[in-house]
Amino acid sequence: MKTVALVLMLFSFFISMSQPVSTKVIAHRGAWKNTHVPENSIAALHHAINLKCYGSEFDVHMSADSVPFVLHDHSIQDIYIEKTTAAELSKIKLSNGEALPTLESYLLAGKNQTQTRLILEIKTSQVSKARSLALTKKCVELVNKTGVAAITDYIAFDFDVCLEVKKLAPKAHVQYLTGDKTPAQIEAAGLDGFDYHFSVLQKNENWLADAHALKLSTNAWTVNDVAIMQWLIDRKVDMITTNEPEKLIELLKK
Ligand code: MG
Repeated sequence: MKTVALVLMLFSFFISMSQPVSTKVIAHRGAWKNTHVPENSIAALHHAINLKCYGSEFDVHMSADSVPFVLHDHSIQDIYIEKTTAAELSKIKLSNGEALPTLESYLLAGKNQTQTRLILEIKTSQVSKARSLALTKKCVELVNKTGVAAITDYIAFDFDVCLEVKKLAPKAHVQYLTGDKTPAQIEAAGLDGFDYHFSVLQKNENWLADAHALKLSTNAWTVNDVAIMQWLIDRKVDMITTNEPEKLIELLKK
């Protein structure tokens, strides 16, 4: 039985090696760097859509009264998200004049297009595991309510959060971020793939091929250097998440 599995794995490995793979571009926190707009702003999402990126990534935290907001850090302008109400958070302005986006407003801004997938990162709560899981439920509910489930994928550093998304939305595409699970462990858990820091993939050179053999999707963050982009493209990574989507788009044209 083991031999059959090994032969099948080798067969799919050679099939995957022989097929041309086009790496997909994911704008990390939107396309903000070269467009000079704030990261995780709706303006950055629009720029990623205009660039025709495959995906635009963004980060989600939850207010004290359980409203998800889009931003990277646990605090903004010295205001700690998890301890502040939505009414207070809604008064915050980003540097381009936009209000700090709620997840709902962000999802609605990404609606009515199918070019660019919404790559939703569920941030780990600093308060409790229960809040991470509550945020997960809120995210899935809002994705369904706003009608963007067909264009939304999920990523998270907390493995339990990834499992919870699959429980709540079995059809959703979920990738794990932390880098401490092998492709076999990702597959056994029923997740769709991984989104690992590129250094993890450089250290574990067989993981991309192993993942492809298991039909898992592969994504690497946050790759801004052309030489590392090329290293990953040569190894047929499915997606690259970058602050430099313009640079990666040009590289893929060559
Ligand atoms: Mg993120």
